[in-house]
Amino acid sequence: MKFVAQEQFSGSHGYRLLPMRFRRLPWDDDRVFVSSLAGDWLILDRSTFERVVRKQIAHDDPLLADLEARYLVTTDLERSTLAPLLSQYRTRKSYLLDGPALHIFVVSLRCHHTCSYCQVSRQQTSATSFDLSDVASHHAVDRLFEWPSPSLTIEFQGGEPLLHFDRVRSITERIIARNRTENRSLRFVLASTLHDLTDEQLAFMKDHAFQLSTSLDGPEWLHNANRPRPERDSYRRTVDGIERGRSTLGADAVSALTTLTRRSLEAPQAIVDEYKKQGFHSISLRPLSPYGFAARTRDRNGYRIAEFLKFYDTAIDHLLKVNQAGFVLEESYASLLLSQLLGPFSHGYVDLRSPTGAGLGAIVYDYDGRVYPSDEARMLAAMGDHGFALGMVNEPIENWLSSPAMQRVMAAGVAEALPTCSDCAYVPLCGADPVDHYARQGDVIGHRPSSDFCQRQMGMFDLLLCKYELGSPQDRATLESWAFARQEPSAYQEAA
Ligand code: SF4
Repeated sequence: MKFVAQEQFSGSHGYRLLPMRFRRLPWDDDRVFVSSLAGDWLILDRSTFERVVRKQIAHDDPLLADLEARYLVTTDLERSTLAPLLSQYRTRKSYLLDGPALHIFVVSLRCHHTCSYCQVSRQQTSATSFDLSDVASHHAVDRLFEWPSPSLTIEFQGGEPLLHFDRVRSITERIIARNRTENRSLRFVLASTLHDLTDEQLAFMKDHAFQLSTSLDGPEWLHNANRPRPERDSYRRTVDGIERGRSTLGADAVSALTTLTRRSLEAPQAIVDEYKKQGFHSISLRPLSPYGFAARTRDRNGYRIAEFLKFYDTAIDHLLKVNQAGFVLEESYASLLLSQLLGPFSHGYVDLRSPTGAGLGAIVYDYDGRVYPSDEARMLAAMGDHGFALGMVNEPIENWLSSPAMQRVMAAGVAEALPTCSDCAYVPLCGADPVDHYARQGDVIGHRPSSDFCQRQMGMFDLLLCKYELGSPQDRATLESWAFARQEPSAYQEAA
């Protein structure tokens, strides 16, 4: 990895270099991935790359036009600005203009599961002191409309939000009433196990076009092992909930996420096949995060990123076969990364932005009236560390944005300015996640060479790029279809 600084115009071939970074391909030491400031890229032989940098590419070589189209060089020697490059850069970062679009309301920490990897420190179902109060929810709705975003995604989370559905209902009604004058585009999402869904709840959600996001960890044996209930019926209840949700809200209104324990890593094909069996066209293969109970059970459930990447490699190969056999099923994180690699627009996914999406793309209104810049920050608070609390829900948002917590997030929130990232060829496509680095390494900047976040990101970029580069025409077509189907990230993907 190396950063090649912009050079002054000189040289007989009439072009100058624009800022670029490169990475030797791990699967072919003789070639390099070269990226521009705005994320356009090219794979070149090392010898060709050296000729580019030495300005030895002839003016009539088609490579020169290719390099210029990707903002790696410019032949416009009179131009005093980098307007086309900056325009492309603005397009990539356009999500910054509107402020947070994802607003997470934690209506209760109560839950009826006892998952050992739970990330939110759930509480007993009778513990109503862990419910969001009416007064706090009124303040939260007022704050919601103080943000400028023309599109607002309101996601209800827990614990289990169905256990405090009266609050889901009152918040929704209040937002809709207020929106008669605000005219924002609204999207409601409820993240739930979908157990104990009532007809009345479904009817209310149908009236307001809710989307449901649930957790399905794989086949019955795996899901029940990961999500224990005394009756060992977690899988059956989830599948019932998915069917009921689809029949009332529509086939596309229910999505699912997978949490991967150590046990899950043994079953990549079985997990993919379960999603196909349940008729999903998207699967999200997420490694465990170091929060809540997950931190306490890390020895039992945890694994190294290298183990996750091995699992992921097998899962993607199986997904490619499933797609080529005629069933469309994307891996959502792969689609996000591929959309960055292959398209000009940003996906807007809050965990993979630079500047960070924490507080700039998402806000979390917790059950106790505290406000956090991300779900991970509130999970840390559930473990007793309130260092990322922006303030209370009855305070002006200006206070949150100028809070010490937000300053701490922003100090490490721009990937292009972080050690190691600043030289990384993937940085235009990657993001900063200061809260995650604090949780894992005790420091918001952290140390990329030993960071799980970085190993996962770099490993997945390498893996996908390799599959795209070396894959069959059918593989490439499938990967492209995942990338280009993803113009608008769905709410659950933003929140995941
Ligand atoms: S986190 Fe890792 S992969 Fe991402 S930009 Fe930084 S160094 Fe590169």
